[in-house]
Amino acid sequence: MQILSVPLDLVLLGPPGSGKGTQAARLAAKYGIPAIATGDILRAQVEAGTPLGLQVKAYLDRGELAPDKLVIDIIRHRLSDPDTLLGFILDGFPRTVRQAQALDALLAELERPLDAVLYLQVDRQSLLDRLGHRAEIDQRSDDRPDVIAHRIDVFLDQTAPLIDYYRQQSKLRLIDGRQPADQVAAAIDGLIGSLQ
Ligand code: AMP
Repeated sequence: MQILSVPLDLVLLGPPGSGKGTQAARLAAKYGIPAIATGDILRAQVEAGTPLGLQVKAYLDRGELAPDKLVIDIIRHRLSDPDTLLGFILDGFPRTVRQAQALDALLAELERPLDAVLYLQVDRQSLLDRLGHRAEIDQRSDDRPDVIAHRIDVFLDQTAPLIDYYRQQSKLRLIDGRQPADQVAAAIDGLIGSLQ
């Protein structure tokens, strides 16, 4: 594990299947900071059958985004946990401009603006191939072909505007997400090295 000289607050941005989860887990292990994936948190709630889970299940099954307010509340609570003091990696949040604005407001309150937003770029066909393959091995109810295509459209429609949002803040860093995972990892490590 590598000790960070200053806290590292990152967002991993990218379409479903771009490798955010893989890279977030690796960074979490490398730097000893939590990877926070709203998709994982929501799926756990659905599986546990909590009121929140019951509320969001239909969104997840259809590949639609859960309501902004709900995911913003989850992140607000999660970022107040002490394990985030040395940094965090957000995976799958924010996904709308409203979520990004709420995150900025929250981090301004905490006086710890984001260090960078890493955008994993992958073309649509590669995403369809990867997610189609993932569907053969996992149990996710939203990795069905029709839902996969819809989730990519939802990304293009509701999340892609964040690319410009963060570019305007000079926070955006582009990564070629079509490369093998270890090359993506090397590119990310290079970028993080330049932030520290
Ligand atoms: P993921 O595991 O990131 O692909 O997310 C799976 C599903 O969880 C998405 O298709 C949405 O239904 C829901 N979800 C995850 N993160 C968010 C978010 N930030 N805003 C709204 N819905 C989300």
